[in-house]
Amino acid sequence: MQKISFRPFIVFALLAALVVIGGVVVYWQQVNTLLERDVKINIAQASEEAALNFSNLLKTDREILTANAISIEDAYPWKNDSFLSETLARYAQNDHFHLLGVVLKNGKTIYSNPATRPLSPAVLQAILQHTSQEPYYVDIFPREKGKYKSAILVQAIALNPTDKSPIGALFAIQKEDYYQGVLALSAMGARGNSFIIRKDGSVILSFGDQPFSNVFSFLEQKTLDIPLAFVSLRKTIEADEPALMGYRDMAQAHYFLQFVPLPVNGWYLVSSIPAHYIEEQATQVAKLSLILFIVVFFVFYGLIFLIMRMREESNRQLFTIAFVDPLTGVDNFNRMCEQFNSKLAGLNRQAVLVVFDINKFKVINDLHGYERGNEVLKRVAQVLRAEVAPQEAFCRLSADNFVLLLNYQDRPSLLKRLHALAVELKRNCTVEDSCLMLDVSFGIYEITDEPLPFYIMLDRAHLALEHAKTRTLDKCEFYDAQDRRRLVAEQRIEATMEAALESGEFAIHLQPKCDFATGEIRGAEALVRWNQGEKTIRPDEFIPLFERNGFILKLDMFILEQVARLLAGWKERGIEPVPLAVNFSRLHLNDARFIPQMRCVMADYNLPSKLIEAEITESVIFNNLDRAKEVIDGLHLYGFPVAMDDFGSGYSSLNVLKELKFDSIKLDKEFLSGFEDNPRAQKVIEQTVRMIKSLGVKVITEGVETREQADFLRACGADLAQGYFFSRPVTIDVFEQLLLKRKLL
Ligand code: C2E
Ligand code: CA
Ligand code: CA
Repeated sequence: MQKISFRPFIVFALLAALVVIGGVVVYWQQVNTLLERDVKINIAQASEEAALNFSNLLKTDREILTANAISIEDAYPWKNDSFLSETLARYAQNDHFHLLGVVLKNGKTIYSNPATRPLSPAVLQAILQHTSQEPYYVDIFPREKGKYKSAILVQAIALNPTDKSPIGALFAIQKEDYYQGVLALSAMGARGNSFIIRKDGSVILSFGDQPFSNVFSFLEQKTLDIPLAFVSLRKTIEADEPALMGYRDMAQAHYFLQFVPLPVNGWYLVSSIPAHYIEEQATQVAKLSLILFIVVFFVFYGLIFLIMRMREESNRQLFTIAFVDPLTGVDNFNRMCEQFNSKLAGLNRQAVLVVFDINKFKVINDLHGYERGNEVLKRVAQVLRAEVAPQEAFCRLSADNFVLLLNYQDRPSLLKRLHALAVELKRNCTVEDSCLMLDVSFGIYEITDEPLPFYIMLDRAHLALEHAKTRTLDKCEFYDAQDRRRLVAEQRIEATMEAALESGEFAIHLQPKCDFATGEIRGAEALVRWNQGEKTIRPDEFIPLFERNGFILKLDMFILEQVARLLAGWKERGIEPVPLAVNFSRLHLNDARFIPQMRCVMADYNLPSKLIEAEITESVIFNNLDRAKEVIDGLHLYGFPVAMDDFGSGYSSLNVLKELKFDSIKLDKEFLSGFEDNPRAQKVIEQTVRMIKSLGVKVITEGVETREQADFLRACGADLAQGYFFSRPVTIDVFEQLLLKRKLL
């Protein structure tokens, strides 16, 4: 059986898996890109928000500080240092400054908390210097050198109570943690980190672990391979624009830095976020998608696989229905047709097509029943299975008919093989408890290079089989061109028979039947001839074919009509008529129109029925005794004499004589042949004639060719003689002249 191939399916599945994996990768990248864009937007937003909060806080502090400065200016000159210190302490507590202080030009400093550690002279110096030029000053200083994590933010307002020039400045200190809440990047959770830098990149305030003190020199190193990016970053920062930059750390971890300008001193808020935060999320999404893909993939392919399995199963069933013979389980004819060409090519056309059937298989069925018949066929199939090689082929064509395509070397070896096969069949396939031996015939067509369709080759093998069946021994026959010529000739006959009947090419010859005792003509048999111009064809060449194609029904009726016409003509011309015998094929027995047609013809020509004798062949009667009886009784009813033709030619059965009431019986020439020097045969003939006569049936002997035969048969007591010794079949004209003489001898 042809199986559904799973190879393309597996290849397809692998390809599909590749496509899916490719899809997941692309999808993952896409998700990554989208998330990255999202995160970048988030960083930018969060950073900008933080920067805004920071500047707002600064602005508020500056406003409060300005208001405090005005109050302090108003109270100038101050009663004493402690008054000033107390005032500052009050303000600091109300306004949440870590520390407030006043520094005078002479360097004197008063703090809101006298116990506090004084600011470094450098810071104080910077405050005085800047406030002498600008009314407001803000800056960040590390509390200890290099410590960015703990820094202080200093804001200062110039104190100018006299409106001439500042006498000093009011300053406020906030510790780094005061801003920490504002600067934390809430959007990034704990992963984000931010710090403040000056325009030159130096970190002045930071809240996380910073591995660098100058972000630019750090980045410059980290982005050596992308110098342009770094240059463009510096430019953007120069222009006070926000910027984003990526880098990898020592462990190749990817980070983003978001730069947002602050509105003071050209400072920047820098937010750092690890990119793996994005990757983690993308991977999470991709993982989920991959799992989904895999599940969908397996479900999908599982379904496809299931469908294919179901299809394979139904294909298998269809195959069985279409290609397997239900009785024997071997290939059927369709399968043979389907694989014939490939098998033939596999054998390099060195092959023969053999058809064989079991002779008299019907008898097995009739005698032993269908069950046994089927059993025999199954065993035949089993033997063939064992005998036919895998590269060869065979099938059961119908009933007991098998077709084989076999490897072929030469005739002798093939015949040997077929003989062995026949022996094997005999050995294995005999019906149990029966001595019935299986007997087969083989028709063989040797396949040539001529490219013929399978059915033509099969036809030829069948033709050879028909031929083989006519033989008694060695029932193997090769197709040869003669068979084909015969077939062609038959086809030609079939093509022209109707027209020939119309145009009167079929004529009758009459062969006299004469009285043994007196030599007088007592009747004649009408024998058909086909006149094709110069050529006259004998009935043996076309009657069997007409019996096969049914045309004989028409032809016999035509002959009957000719005979009737002849008899009517004689009557008119005053010639004393003799009964004429007409041959009727076995086909008439099953034709309900037979007797009515005969009656019709007799009525048309106004003839008595006794002038037409119906000759019916014995073998036909044997095949269907009941029907024959019906027909003979019918013919008798209307007064037609009936003769049994060819008695003794086949398997005569005395039963026929017992059951059927013939008017005459024609002993076949085969039955009579060669009795001259065979006393035993003579006895049989003698007794047969006696027995028939004792039934009151006339005996007609056919094929009497010699005087000895005539004398012997006469002595036996046969009534009528028909044969070349008396007369060959002759034309109507000749017969009429014979009839006028009345006597043949
Ligand atoms: P049949 O009915 O047995 O006819 C006798 C055949 O034996 C005739 O052959 C006849 O010529 C031949 N015959 C007669 N005497 C002798 C003889 O002494 N020696 C030999 N060797 N042969 C002799 P024919 O005319 O060729 O007919 C052959 C067969 O064709 C007939 O055998 C008959 O069965 C059939 N046939 C002829 N005409 C018709 C017909 O009109 N209808 C049907 N259905 N069959 C016909
Ligand atoms: Ca006859
Ligand atoms: Ca005959």
